[in-house]
Amino acid sequence: MSNAIMSVYNPAPVTPVRGKGIWLYEADGTQWLDCIGGVATNALGHCHPVLVEALERQASMVWHVSNALVIDGQRVLAEALTAACFADRVFFANTGCEAVECAIKAARRFHAHNGQSDRIDIVGFTGSFHGRSYAAINASGNAAYLDGFGPALPGYTHVSRHDADGIAAAIARPTTAAVIVEPVQGEGGALAFDDDTLRRLRRLCTGHGVLLIYDEVQSGMGRTGRLFAHQWIDDAAPDIMAIAKALGAGFPVGACLATDDAAKGMTPGTHGSTFGGNPLAMAVAMAAFTEISRPETLANVRTVSEHLRSRLEILRQRHPDVIVEVRGKGLLVGVKLVPNNRIFLAHARDQHLLLSGCGDNCIRLLPSLLLSRTEADDIVTRFDRTCDAMRVALAA
Ligand code: PMP
Repeated sequence: MSNAIMSVYNPAPVTPVRGKGIWLYEADGTQWLDCIGGVATNALGHCHPVLVEALERQASMVWHVSNALVIDGQRVLAEALTAACFADRVFFANTGCEAVECAIKAARRFHAHNGQSDRIDIVGFTGSFHGRSYAAINASGNAAYLDGFGPALPGYTHVSRHDADGIAAAIARPTTAAVIVEPVQGEGGALAFDDDTLRRLRRLCTGHGVLLIYDEVQSGMGRTGRLFAHQWIDDAAPDIMAIAKALGAGFPVGACLATDDAAKGMTPGTHGSTFGGNPLAMAVAMAAFTEISRPETLANVRTVSEHLRSRLEILRQRHPDVIVEVRGKGLLVGVKLVPNNRIFLAHARDQHLLLSGCGDNCIRLLPSLLLSRTEADDIVTRFDRTCDAMRVALAA
């Protein structure tokens, strides 16, 4: 099909016009069980009434004024976010990669502010994903994202999470500004870093005056059963953190959070955004924050994800020729497959189950954080049938 859209995407042939909870509907009423969730974004499902109300209320008040004027919703949400984690300061952006961009700029400015402007290197991890801006594709640990976009930028290096010595050496280099890491890698294959690795990163960074940046764009805002994934681990808080996706639960908004110290280089004029933190985004994100941070919501993620994982584990035993491993954390569920994951996604669509592909031949299930046990069972039934269909297709 030729059309006027730049062909950077390859969407599945599904055209939702309406959504409710975990369900999406096409114009003819065809129903889909949505485990893509806008790629870990629709944390409260589709059209949650509290979010609809917040958006409609704000839409009839004021939409946009820019940061040339005071947006009080920013203060309110920044206070809520900083009260809930390590951070003291928040910059509001519109997307995940903009949040990462701010995190990297803040880290370099921090050192410049301290008279160490030669500290520019950002140490990333192989298999990581941080977005599609130039800074983000250079920070991401996958050379494919750089292909055809000119030379790699100076100031970015990568290490493997299995290479303890390499990590220590990179952090000890005098030109290193920051380490950037996803506590749970999303696009790379739903892979959680182990607690000790993150604690060690924290210790090494502190020891060498290097800033630790967490990219919790995908793992943050309740996805793992804590508000932020790193909060599962003691003594591993970052200096800077990028969040987005579920922050607006479907409304575009991102944020870079930092301690007072780490944010000290970000003085007036050093950064900005026309739309960042606009009143519509703030109204929806505040409503989303209130719902997601409820103890009941986070407890639901923990119990329902455990249920879903144990049922998927049974499927792994039943279909060893299809499923290699169930991994990830909370409702950032990854399933590593034997057959090609793209083909599996197409077979899942035959069961009207929408799944997300990712690296290392995995698929991800990223359902609403409000998922019920019954809905989880429905996912598993469709997943089971997909595995059966996959086996038949492989035998043919
Ligand atoms: N960081 C991580 C960990 C992500 O998963 C993503 C998006 N998948 C991004 C950054 C980029 O976010 P966005 O697409 O909103 O720019």
